[in-house]
Formats: sequence, C-alpha cells, structure tokens
Amino acid sequence: MHQTHLARKRFGQHFLHDKQIIQRLVDAIHAEPNQHLVEIGPGQGALTVPILKIVGQLDVIEIDWDLIPALKTRCLGKGLLITHQADALEFDFKTLVQDKEELRVIGNLPYNISTPLIFHLLEYSEHIQDMHFMLQKEVVDRLAAQPGDDAYGRLSIMVQYHCAVTSLFHVPASAFYPPPQVESSVVRLVPHVEKPHRAKNYEHFSNVVRLAFSHRRKTLRNCLKTMMGDEDWAKVAIDSHRRPEELSVADYVQLSNLFFK
Ligand code: SAM
Repeated sequence: MHQTHLARKRFGQHFLHDKQIIQRLVDAIHAEPNQHLVEIGPGQGALTVPILKIVGQLDVIEIDWDLIPALKTRCLGKGLLITHQADALEFDFKTLVQDKEELRVIGNLPYNISTPLIFHLLEYSEHIQDMHFMLQKEVVDRLAAQPGDDAYGRLSIMVQYHCAVTSLFHVPASAFYPPPQVESSVVRLVPHVEKPHRAKNYEHFSNVVRLAFSHRRKTLRNCLKTMMGDEDWAKVAIDSHRRPEELSVADYVQLSNLFFK
C-alpha cells in the first residue's frame, strides 16, 4: 500500500501493511473518544487513520516532512490531525499537555532510536497515562525481562523502575513494507502512579545500576567495589556474591538508598 514514497532507511521506515496486525494494535491501544493520544512516527498513516477515527483529534510527531502532505490527505474527514514536524527525541511533550490531562503515547517506532526515545519519554512520565509501542522483539524482551532471564539487564531495571511493562504480541517482518531484518513485538508501558520502590537519589540509583552491569560476569561485590566496601555490604540483606542479573529493581533501590539518609 502507498508505495510511492521511497522508504528512508535513516529514519527507520518500515510501514505496516498487515490489516490484522494493525487491527490488533488498535484493539490493544483501546482508545476512546476525546482521549489525548500522541503518535510518534505516523509515516503513511497505518495507525493514524484508525486511531484518529476513534479519538477525533490526534497529535503526530514525524521527522520526515515529505510524508506529511499525503498523511494529511489520507486523514481528511477522519478528524483533526495536528502535525508536528520534529525529532521525537528532542520534542518537549509537556507542550502538548493541557491542564491535568495525561497523554497516551503510541507508535511503531524507528528501531534505531527506540531506547533513547523511551528514556526521553520517561522524563515526562508524570504526564503520561500509558505508551504502546511496536519495537524490535529483542528490545521488548529486555524491557519485560525478570531477574535471572537472559534478557534481563540495565534497560529492564531502569524502565521497570518507572513503569509496569507488558509484552503483548509478536509481529512478523512480513507485516511491514519493506520488511525489517528483525522480528517485532508490541509492548505496553504504564508509568507507576506511586513507584513501588523509590530511590532517594535517582541519579545515584542510575549510577549503581550502570556500574553493576558494566561487568556482567562478575559478582556484585566486584562490580561495585569502587562504591561499596565490607561495612556497606554488612548493612544490606543482599548477598554480595550474587551476580548483577539476579537482583530485582527493589534490590537496586535498596543498595542505592544505603548512601542516603
Ligand atoms: N507508523 C507508521 C507505520 O506503522 O506504518 C510508520 C512506522 S516507521 C517504522 C517509523 C516512522 O517514524 C517513520 O515514519 C519515520 O519517518 C518516523 N521517524 C523516524 N525517526 C523519527 C524521529 N526521530 N522523530 C519522529 N519520527 C521519526
């Protein structure tokens, strides 16, 4: 469908054309009229059109201006499309928030920017109700992984600190044009209203997690030796001979909070 536009690799353009997958994604998002949805990377409108028809008004952020005229034409009569030609990585999502409303963010994301984009969005998590993204399957596996899983690591911990993560369903490469080299999955991220485990100093928490995963095969004691000595380990109920990938978000928060009264 709509193949007059030559897909641009540098913008990670793989357009969804599988109608069943599009419908599954629309169902998973479960939009309702008048909710404030924001789509990142609308492309040729595979998701934009059905979502706009439901909500009546939609903000879209697209870096490739060449796609916008056709997108606007396709959305004519479907509702009010508000286009922002911008790099989502630099976009100030707060500018979209009116009063106390919360945004619902959706997108079939360009895979090369998905991780930094999620970190960027987490800065606005208090203004976000939920996020539904199509991502590289490997990234979704890392986001949703639990301690002990192969995919568990820094990304799992940092995102789960902020959000409840649910991996929803897999999407084959054949659902896109052109097909990507990788398999995809859809994920739901719901920012915690009250964080179940709160770091007293977020930057320190983030540093502890980074340091712990800088040497994956080593023990925690070894990885964190520049930060924690025997006296510190004696104060926490965590065995320092465990490996970084065995600790939960709560464990990392506990380690980090040790240094703050
Ligand atoms: N949503 C469409 C679909 O499902 O068919 C297109 C998905 S395609 C994987 C990613 C889209 O994101 C493209 O339209 C691309 O131009 C856009 N994009 C790439 N980098 C972006 C960025 N930094 N900010 C905003 N949009 C971007």
